[in-house]
Amino acid sequence: MSSRANGSSKCATHEIKFTKLFINGQFVNSISRNTFDTIDPATEEVIATVSEGKKEDVDVAVKAAREAFDNGPWPRMSGEARRKIMLKFADLIDENVDDLATLEVIDGGKLFGPVKFFEIPISSETFRYFAGAADKIRGATLKMSSNIQAYTLREPIGVVGHIIPWNSPAYMFATKVAPALASGCTMVVKPSEHTPLTVLFLAHLSKLAGVPDGVINVVNGFGETVGAAISSHMDIDAVTFTGSTEVGRSVMQAAAISNLKPVSLELGGKSPFIVFDDADVDKAVELAVLGNLMNKGEMCVAGSRVFVQEGIHDVFLSKLEAMVKGWATGDPFDPATRHGPQNNKQQYEKVLSCIEHGKKEGATLVTGGRPFGEKGYFIEPALFTNVTDDMTIAKEEIFGPVITVLKFKTVEEVIKRANITKYGLAAGVMTKNIDVANTVSRAIRAGAVWVNCFIAIDRDAPHGGYKMSGFGREQGLEALEHYLQVKTVATPIYNTPWL
Ligand code: NAD
Repeated sequence: MSSRANGSSKCATHEIKFTKLFINGQFVNSISRNTFDTIDPATEEVIATVSEGKKEDVDVAVKAAREAFDNGPWPRMSGEARRKIMLKFADLIDENVDDLATLEVIDGGKLFGPVKFFEIPISSETFRYFAGAADKIRGATLKMSSNIQAYTLREPIGVVGHIIPWNSPAYMFATKVAPALASGCTMVVKPSEHTPLTVLFLAHLSKLAGVPDGVINVVNGFGETVGAAISSHMDIDAVTFTGSTEVGRSVMQAAAISNLKPVSLELGGKSPFIVFDDADVDKAVELAVLGNLMNKGEMCVAGSRVFVQEGIHDVFLSKLEAMVKGWATGDPFDPATRHGPQNNKQQYEKVLSCIEHGKKEGATLVTGGRPFGEKGYFIEPALFTNVTDDMTIAKEEIFGPVITVLKFKTVEEVIKRANITKYGLAAGVMTKNIDVANTVSRAIRAGAVWVNCFIAIDRDAPHGGYKMSGFGREQGLEALEHYLQVKTVATPIYNTPWL
């Protein structure tokens, strides 16, 4: 790898064009000129040296976003004009799909095929979806009780801070930036320190699309510095955060003790995937595997507690074991690979330690659970049975390729057990019985319930948590609510002197 004067660098497989901070439409060094390395988790090699922002860089980025909001064209232009720029942005994402997918692979260990053919296309479609909303944001006419007429305006909230995690950087960027742009907000984005590269490339594309300078700013860096500076900033009007429950709490605290900015929190999960005796077993096995091993298990909505009714438990388990054993681990660029490396070293070590913990607590490790290969953060997908609700592997989010199977007898029992969790992000229900499906869907305390399917996430479907999985919704038109505020404008209908 060699560094270049313009901030680009070249790793063995790909030229990394953007490694600096993106502020006011320019790629710039951080004020301190500090840098940090970003690592390919498949090879453990440094792929780029990235500018490291600090609080003072956040201040500069916020100033640019503030100026763009208070005096710039973006909040003032018509929804139609914003829509056209957002559609152009979406087209540029599609045109650059190979570069973006490659960055997602080398920076985050994701599989090239699914990213190229699924995650990047749904990211561009997210921009198109919210582009379609940009010219349809409108208020209401109010029927007041006195001789006053009134209407509401839905106005952009201002400068928004977006703090995003490492598991799907491009998609997370799209789910936050697209509705904020449609609403007329300006923003400061903080990518995860583990995966800054795709977000920087997207910032470059936003400029090519015609997003005015200062509207999107990106400050790379660490959570305790850049993330904390965003959540506590007096001149940021709202924060959206996706990440762990623990950090979500500190973001909310910082927002509360600074300027009381509203926050939306998309946090962790420990979702139940419930398979009843009458379910299509092969389909259920396939969904249990996808719902736990896709993206190496680094999914907030992973159905990591697989509850299986006793009548089909044994046959389900043997089919599940066969499928997990056949889940090919290896090079994320190889189309035959189903399972790549964990995103980063800390996560790799955390997952291995959870697996050890599961064994010590008495769960049975049926297969996998060991490091794989000579280099890289690869772990063989792990399958545990004889898991009980009180075990740590059934309670805490692992965020890795670990499936736990729990046996149950009745509908009432499984509802109770599925809800024994501090989380409430999602749930899956596999049954042909519509009454059971309806009963369980209504009883589960989670933001999404998928019946005879799993991870049915879509740009038109609101996504978010109950309980300690957070609050606020991303996706769907509901997502616009984070970025808009309502103003009531009232005038007398007749000349009424007492008003
Ligand atoms: P994390 O909480 O460690 O970090 C998330 C982001 O917050 C990163 O950019 C990080 O730098 C920043 N951060 C860290 N400390 C901070 C602080 N004190 N103040 C402000 N920002 C700070 O999470 P992660 O490890 O990057 O991601 C994994 C977690 O994200 C999992 O818990 C997963 O469930 C969750 N997640 C949730 C969803 C969802 O939609 N609900 C989606 C994806 C991931």
